[in-house]
Amino acid sequence: MAEEAPPRPQDAPVPAARELGGSAQVRCIDAGSCNGCEIEIGNAFGPVYDAERYGARLVASPRHADVALVTGPVTRNMAEPLRRTVAAMPEPRLVVAIGDCALNCGEFAGAYGVEGAVGDVVDVDLAVPGCPPRPEEIVSALRRVTGR
Ligand code: SF4
Repeated sequence: MAEEAPPRPQDAPVPAARELGGSAQVRCIDAGSCNGCEIEIGNAFGPVYDAERYGARLVASPRHADVALVTGPVTRNMAEPLRRTVAAMPEPRLVVAIGDCALNCGEFAGAYGVEGAVGDVVDVDLAVPGCPPRPEEIVSALRRVTGR
């Protein structure tokens, strides 16, 4: 049922990902999104796009995760939980910002409840623009992390 695997992304692998050895455990963090990005992350890991075949796997705890996929503008209430969640991940760890809101607050820029973009709260290693990004783009970013 899965789509035929597209060629490996031409973009260079993320340097910090070299230590992960071709597989990445991924923890999703919704820092305040509308959930549109979550739907596409779900599709990226579903049977059609099947990110797992490239070595990326979802996990439930940040303590088991190499990669944080962060969506949404960071709301005031989620800024500290986001910092703590990323701090709970073992090193080496990467943060991937998913969607325009994560990159620059998108639709929610200037809203009273918004603390800032993901990069204003934690260091970001890789960004995937779009509102929401397509599943192929999310899978492509994960392939740059796993190098597969
Ligand atoms: S980038 Fe678009 S789809 Fe994603 S959280 Fe923001 S508004 Fe929603």
